[in-house]
Amino acid sequence: MPNILTMHDVPCPLCGSENNTPVFTSPDWTGTAAGDFRLVRCRACQHRYLNPMPVDESLADCYPQDYGPHQRAIGRPATHGGTGQLNRSQPPKIPWYLSSWVRSIPGPLAYYRWVTDTKSVWVPSEDGAGRRALELGCSSGWFLAQLRNRGWSPVGVDLVEGPLTKARDAGFEVHHGTLDSVQFDAECFDAVFAWMVIEHVPRPKETLRAIHSVLKPGGHFAFSIPNVASWESRLFGRHWRGYDLPRHPQHFTPRVIRTLLNDEGFEVKAISHQPSFLYWIGSAGSWLRETFPNWSLGATLMEQYENQPPLWSYLLLGPLGSLNALMHQSGRLTIIASRKS
Ligand SMILES: [Zn+2]
Repeated sequence: MPNILTMHDVPCPLCGSENNTPVFTSPDWTGTAAGDFRLVRCRACQHRYLNPMPVDESLADCYPQDYGPHQRAIGRPATHGGTGQLNRSQPPKIPWYLSSWVRSIPGPLAYYRWVTDTKSVWVPSEDGAGRRALELGCSSGWFLAQLRNRGWSPVGVDLVEGPLTKARDAGFEVHHGTLDSVQFDAECFDAVFAWMVIEHVPRPKETLRAIHSVLKPGGHFAFSIPNVASWESRLFGRHWRGYDLPRHPQHFTPRVIRTLLNDEGFEVKAISHQPSFLYWIGSAGSWLRETFPNWSLGATLMEQYENQPPLWSYLLLGPLGSLNALMHQSGRLTIIASRKS
């Protein structure tokens, strides 16, 4: 049975205006939450957000027990030693046709490395020794492991308890809750990371203020979000997986997030477009499932998005994802900012 959420009307989470216009209404395509959800656009600042929004007590009910991003295993450490570069997070398993002699041929191996490098996370260039980092939405700790491998002392926080056991077993300090509920000391971190998290929070200004207060002046704040100003969001419309209502109440454009960060005391260093095609598969699946309810293909594609995308999708769509990023049209953005001193 889908969960029934308690919803309430909210003003624009960024500017407080109550003047908004509906964009579309859609069900929860994963079937977790019951009812229809409405996306609106603020007429004052153009921010797109879910309205009405679930009350805080209903937020956990937006997530299925096997929510995809919470299932990731601890990824292998970043192996390429470049400094400050964007790293692959977790490449797919290598099938037989890339596992033996084929991999010793330079061409295919280089191609494989290129298409599986989705640049979905970023690790700062400096040596992490003696530095503390915080990851919001750390899940089972795959990124905490990357930080530890670079010498950082990482701490994780996640709203969902289950996957934290894996992180604790790997020896990480992790807390169940939110940045508010855990209450860290002011200015105690050299870096804060939040991969695909900020679109989930009900009050992004408060979240950014809380991040600002735990960061040392000059400290890094690196995070990723879906890009609602991408061609794929227009093409797939309410089926775009980046919307993922009601789990994503906030939908930022590069311009809106830049303004927000500036207003909240951060200096934006870079907004980069990820060479990511990950939403294409699930979005096409969602559209297929509604349009051709008797076909199983749509549901299969959606599940592949929710879990690990298969290698064929990297080999086939990877170059298109890179081209898309080059044209600044990616559905996923990585933003690197620092706390103004
Ligand atoms: Zn607004």
